[in-house]
Amino acid sequence: MTGPTLTLRAPADGSVLGEVALTSREEVRAAVARAQAAFRSGAWAARPPRERAETLHRLADLMQRDAEALARLDSEDAGKPITECRENDVPSAIESIRWFAEAADKGRGSTSPAGSDVLAFTEREPFGVVAAILPWNYPLAMAAWKIGPALAAGNALLLKPADATPRSVQHVAALAREAGLPDDVLQVVTGDGPTTGAALADDPIIGALSFTGSTTTGRGILAAAATSNLKRVSLEMGGKSPQILLDDALEFGETLIEGMIESAFLTSGQNCTAGSRVLVHESIHDEVVARFAAAAAALRVGHPADPATQLGPVIDDRAADRILAAVDTAVREGATLVTGGGEVDVVPGGRYLAPTVLTGVVPGSDITRRELFGPVVTVQSFRTRDEALALANDTDYGLAASVWTRRLDDAVALARGVEAGLISVGAYSEGDLTVPFGGWKQSGFGGVEKSLRAFEQWTREKTVWIALRH
Ligand code: NAD
Repeated sequence: MTGPTLTLRAPADGSVLGEVALTSREEVRAAVARAQAAFRSGAWAARPPRERAETLHRLADLMQRDAEALARLDSEDAGKPITECRENDVPSAIESIRWFAEAADKGRGSTSPAGSDVLAFTEREPFGVVAAILPWNYPLAMAAWKIGPALAAGNALLLKPADATPRSVQHVAALAREAGLPDDVLQVVTGDGPTTGAALADDPIIGALSFTGSTTTGRGILAAAATSNLKRVSLEMGGKSPQILLDDALEFGETLIEGMIESAFLTSGQNCTAGSRVLVHESIHDEVVARFAAAAAALRVGHPADPATQLGPVIDDRAADRILAAVDTAVREGATLVTGGGEVDVVPGGRYLAPTVLTGVVPGSDITRRELFGPVVTVQSFRTRDEALALANDTDYGLAASVWTRRLDDAVALARGVEAGLISVGAYSEGDLTVPFGGWKQSGFGGVEKSLRAFEQWTREKTVWIALRH
């Protein structure tokens, strides 16, 4: 490799995993030009959609063949527990590619009743060159949500993985070539945000850019799009999602506690939809805190390569220091640390945080409103449903929420009242590929992932008006 590089370090122990290119602005421009030539050649875009679907299915087959290698790459790069990568991330990425492949030749257009002397119809066409910028917490799964519809629709896609987690995405790009994807239709540009990501955001040719990451970065990308070529931007960003437990929630038994734990601590809480705020009816507050904290304390914090590990390290020193400082501040402000709050000694060089549960937090304080992106959960109690809603909506984010009650009227009132794009009732779930996923407020902008609606991010609508002569 010539030119500047990024060194990849394992969150597990700080060891060096490798080097990848720090793609410069000029190299990004050159990659865009190659993508444009590939798109215009028609080698991909002009192929019958069924053939594009077959290529994507071959890609999914190859990902299945290499599933173990892909799981290891994500586990090593992101420090995610290997079991999570094997059982969740990689299978869900393969399923996404297949689902969107199947949608490649399912119609997306309409005719209009414009009169007998006119044929008026709309169709959706690919943009041409498109880009996606990815976060580090679900490297492969987030890539698949974008690769699937972008390529099924016929675009040429540039993918920028997060600085720390490029290797699974690079591997998938190699598999795509093996599957028969024409050259330059899927290119991976590794690098950092300010250089490589920014070059995508202000590129004059890229027609659409889909971003998943933090709200701060998303805001900058939108501004760069506005001042460059007004590319279509869709942003999936952070969250501070509530788990709302009404007074009958304990009737869910172990399902409740398991759902709460998964919601709070999956990927060490470094999950956009993490249920980092438990809002619980005062009548069951103490019992819920006792059971939830006991289950949290029993989670196994360990090396990500150990199949028994449930929580791996957080991504890096900066994240660990930020999370610990936020917990300290909350405690200084009067919060009670029920469990956790510190580090667990697993392997030198990695930062492993104990699952942490806080009660007595100051309403409206930072810990209840800012995304922490770590294994930290606050518990607050409420008396009435309206109080629960007010607490739930007291955040700039609006990604997801869980509601735990068996009473239909309460469940529907909360599902309708919470200002977020995804509400699950009696579960912690992001749903499957048939349902859209997109945040409200400062969690999302301009489009959704998953479902047939995802194609709206990657295609533009054209109206055709044909005057008919009789
Ligand atoms: P981040 O915003 O730091 O980085 C995301 C990506 O943006 C990386 O590839 C990074 O290199 C790039 N980037 C950084 N600065 C840039 C710039 N100036 N111009 C262009 N690109 C730039 O986020 P992260 O730490 O990788 O991921 C964690 C965040 O992602 C959390 O906030 C989490 O909630 C969010 N997330 C959201 C979803 C969702 O679907 N809503 C899913 C996963 C993660």
